[in-house]
Amino acid sequence: MAPITPDISELELTELEATVLTLGVEPFHARQMYRWVYRKGLDHVNGMTNLSLRLREQLEATVTLTTPKLTARKQSSDGTQKFLFTLADGREIESVFIPDTPAMTLCISVQVGCAMRCGFCLTGKMGLVRDLSAGEIAGQVRVLVRELAFQDRHFNLVLMGMGEPLHNYDATMKALRILAAPEGLAISPGRVTLSTVGILPAFERLANEPWLPNLAVSLHATTDAVRHGLIPTSRKQRLTDLIAACRRFPLKHRERITFEYVLLDGVNDSQDDANRLVKLLRGLRSKVNLIPLNEAPGIPFSRPSDDQVNRFARAVASGGLMVSVRKSRGLDIQAACGQLIVENERLSPSKV
Ligand code: SAH
Repeated sequence: MAPITPDISELELTELEATVLTLGVEPFHARQMYRWVYRKGLDHVNGMTNLSLRLREQLEATVTLTTPKLTARKQSSDGTQKFLFTLADGREIESVFIPDTPAMTLCISVQVGCAMRCGFCLTGKMGLVRDLSAGEIAGQVRVLVRELAFQDRHFNLVLMGMGEPLHNYDATMKALRILAAPEGLAISPGRVTLSTVGILPAFERLANEPWLPNLAVSLHATTDAVRHGLIPTSRKQRLTDLIAACRRFPLKHRERITFEYVLLDGVNDSQDDANRLVKLLRGLRSKVNLIPLNEAPGIPFSRPSDDQVNRFARAVASGGLMVSVRKSRGLDIQAACGQLIVENERLSPSKV
């Protein structure tokens, strides 16, 4: 069997150091390479001009550097931008840049499609095509930073694109470690938010990570019956167990867990829901983020009126919870929450 060629994009810095050592190369060259790849956005070893020509030739012959190919870019009237990437096997994913939230935010994908099948989400309709590798997850950020010239800017990173981070746990956490390397993009955990439906065993594992991002939990319901209907893959799990796991989740000083709650007209937006939500989250350091549904053809729910959204928000706030309403961004380019779906994937006959 031919030896596997190491791919720089899949390696944490310590792994790249070990890899270059096997070539008889000093580990500090690995740090130089990391700077080229993550800070300067270089996607070939050839251009790493502070490495000797001999070393570059040696690297060219022994390592690869895979980068998601940016194949389309759309801009919304509100400044949001959507990026389409083609991966090495031809699969496609999308990432979104949302300006002024008030921070700059990059929203990236962790899977091609998603296995969670939430009834109101277009990505869920695709089903899971495949997991992304750590390099493909981190690679989106690498290219976005280059395209947006964000090398020296602060930005937030949200894992809220296609896919469920806790369903692709190892690759997701590895990507975050890659992105955190000080020699690379140095993205600190405080600027990253991982959004999840809360798959319990993985959730407990996350709680024990040394590198812990902010947590957003997609709650969407206040009774098991409604939640199981909206998120079919949550059927083996009770809301009370999820909330108990959230109560155990380690939070730093002043940190809160965000609870995302998609508002669906007549499904989960009643006064009773608001009361139950207040009861469920009482005593938990939380903030509730209400997301009025982004409607789409094929999604069998509708968005409540602005009045109803405000009424629900007020009811939750008067129960003592911190609450905000998420603005839909990038609706005109299908970049808003739940709208990420890649046309080719949707039309592929194997998934019909
Ligand atoms: N799998 C992760 C990340 C998914 S997307 C999760 O479920 O949390 C991020 C958020 O967008 C989730 O809260 C998701 O439920 C929400 N979302 C999905 N479809 C939506 C839609 N059509 N309108 C509004 N929000 C939606």
